[in-house]
Parts: sequence; structure tokens; C-alpha cells
Amino acid sequence: MAAPKVAVVGAGVIGLSTALCITETCPSCSVTVLSDQFSPNTTSDVAAGMLIPHTYPGTPIHVQKQWFKETFTYLFAISNSAEASEAGIHLVSGWQVFKNSPKDELPFWSDVVLGFRVMSKAELQKFPQHQFGHAFTTLKCDCPPYLLWLEKRLKANGVQIYTRKVADLWDLHREYDVVVNCTGIGACQLVGDKKLFPVRGQVLKVHAPWVKNFIRDGDGLTYIYPGIHRVTLGGTREKENWSLAPDPGTTKDIFDRCCSLEPSLWGAQDIKVKVGLRPSRQHVRLQKEVLNQGGVKLPVVHNYGHGAGGFSVHRGTAKEAAFLVGECIAALQGSSSRAKL
Ligand code: FAD
Repeated sequence: MAAPKVAVVGAGVIGLSTALCITETCPSCSVTVLSDQFSPNTTSDVAAGMLIPHTYPGTPIHVQKQWFKETFTYLFAISNSAEASEAGIHLVSGWQVFKNSPKDELPFWSDVVLGFRVMSKAELQKFPQHQFGHAFTTLKCDCPPYLLWLEKRLKANGVQIYTRKVADLWDLHREYDVVVNCTGIGACQLVGDKKLFPVRGQVLKVHAPWVKNFIRDGDGLTYIYPGIHRVTLGGTREKENWSLAPDPGTTKDIFDRCCSLEPSLWGAQDIKVKVGLRPSRQHVRLQKEVLNQGGVKLPVVHNYGHGAGGFSVHRGTAKEAAFLVGECIAALQGSSSRAKL
């Protein structure tokens, strides 16, 4: 069999990182990325990019932990290299604070982030409305630079990148041996997945360079995440809301909530509003499927539905998707050598 041709559909953090993992695990493959939108116009560009996992109720915790650990280890190495500033990856320390003590004192990811501990009484004095908190150091991706860095790595590995809207995965069967579906919320339309739904998120990106620590309310709704150039203030979680239009009332509400956690933000300037649709599901769809029309087959690997936690687990799920692509190629090679006998 000639070099297997793999098409990855989607150029958010999931598509780009999956394409990169495929080039690393299958250097003989010819990999192409097809997408109707690229950075800065994807959901991944809107994200804060903090490595704090969101829990997928339908996925075993040990699997989620493994995805997070692989992602953390990968990005930690980048943060500790000369590539860090170009890739937009940096360490950030801060606090997750709770009005009432949480049921589980230790989240499953507490031994993956660095220096996780319960906050002292003295630290909690900064948050008079909160009773309990965790302090730790984690990683943050500045999303647009990280997406551009991934694209650059792909081009260096010989990957072709084209702008194309795919109306039906089957349309790719003449040109490619394996197709990988990383279309995020686009999978609602592309593959008619009824288990996938949008959770709208509105955030503000502000200039407040004096804010150095992250602060996250334990309810997950209000957060302050300092990046290299801008601070992300959030947020909202609106299930089944497809609107990408910023809402001025929500902007005011987010700003007020964040200022109540960190009063110095009243001095923030140059407020930009962004909206994105989290591609949400009970569990990430990470599986093989073989499309078949009239006896002609097209293996597909799905990797979408990362909801509120795509950055936190992207490398782990990309590695697993690349492994499934390897299985599809091995099966194709097995059937082509049997056909020659
Ligand atoms: P996308 O980035 O949407 O990429 C999908 C790609 O597929 C796009 O390029 C699109 O153009 C393409 N596509 C779709 N349909 C087609 C088609 N038919 N043909 C061709 N191309 C197609 N996660 C974290 O881990 N940490 C955070 O701090 C964080 N903060 C967030 C804050 C907000 C406000 C939001 C909205 C999300 C946040 N997330 C965070 C979640 C994270 O953004 C998502 O999980 C992640 O971006 C999903 O990536 P994706 O590549 O699957 O989707």
C-alpha cells in the first residue's frame, strides 16, 4: 500500500493537535487538514486555555485523568523550553475559592497540577465572601498563538492545510484512506450527532497587567485568568444557546462579578468581548466508525465533544485518536496484502 492518506477535518485545538500526533506516530502517512475556519475564527480562539479539567460524566475518571496528565506533561515541557513564548504556554499560580466547602475535598487532578494545597486562613482573607479554597500552579495556553504554533509544526512536518467546508464525510472517500472528524460543534450538522449540544460562553479579554494570579470561583462561573498579554474574565454557561452575538447585559454582569472577586479590575482597560460555543456531550466521542456505501468502505475516527475542557485534555485525546488512526491503517494494510494473495 502507498503512503496512507489521512484527512483531519477541523482546525481548532483538537484538529491541529490530532494531526500533529498522527504525523508523530505515523511518519509515513500523508496528512491533510481541511477546515472551513482557522485561527482566529474558531471556538478554540475564544477559550481562556486554562489547564483545569472539566468533568465528563460519561467517561471514567481514570481515563480523564490520563488525558489531563498527558496534556499537562506535554505543555509543561513546552513552557520550560525556548518555544514557550511563541507557543503562548506559561505557568500560572492562583486560587480556586468556594462559598461553601466542596463535597470532595480533593479534585481528581490535584496531584497533576503543581503544589496543590488547601488555602490558609490568611490567604482566605483576600476573599471575604468565601470560606474555603485551593491554591495551586497550573498551565495556561494563550490560545491564538498556540494554534498558530501548532499550524507551524504541522507545516514543518509536511502537512497540507486547505480551507474547505466538508458537507459529508463520505465526500472524502475517493481522496483519502482515513478521515478524522475534529469538527467540534460542527459535528451537530456534519454527522447529525443528537447527543452534542452547544454551551454558550461569553468572556471579556481585558488589559490589566498587574493581575498575576488566577482566581476561579468554585462554581466555575466566575473566573479571572491572566495570560501573557490579556486577562480573560468569565463567564457564562448557557446550554443550547447558539447565539454568537455578545450580550451587553452579560458583559456588565461578568465585569461586576470579576471586580467583586478582584477589586483592582475596576481599573481594567480595553475591554474586548468574545463568544464561543462549547461542543458539549456527556463524554468525548473518541471512536472508530466504518462508513460503507455499496461495499466501498471509509474508516473514520471521531474526536469531538470536548465541552468546557478541550485545552485541558487535548493532547491526551489527540494521542488516543492517532492510535485509532494507526489501527485503521493496519487494518487497511492487512486487507490490501490479503487481496494480493
Ligand atoms: P473548535 O475550536 O470549534 O474547532 C472546530 C473546527 O472544525 C473549526 O476549525 C471549524 O471551522 C471546523 N469545522 C466544523 N465543521 C466543519 C465542516 N463541516 N467542514 C470543515 N470544517 C469544519 N477549555 C479548557 O480546557 N480551558 C479553558 O479555560 C477553556 N475556556 C473556555 C472559555 C470559553 C468562553 C469557551 C467557549 C470554551 C472554553 N474552553 C476551555 C473549551 C474549549 O474552547 C473547547 O473544548 C475547544 O476549543 C474545542 O476545540 P475543537 O477543536 O473541538 O473545536
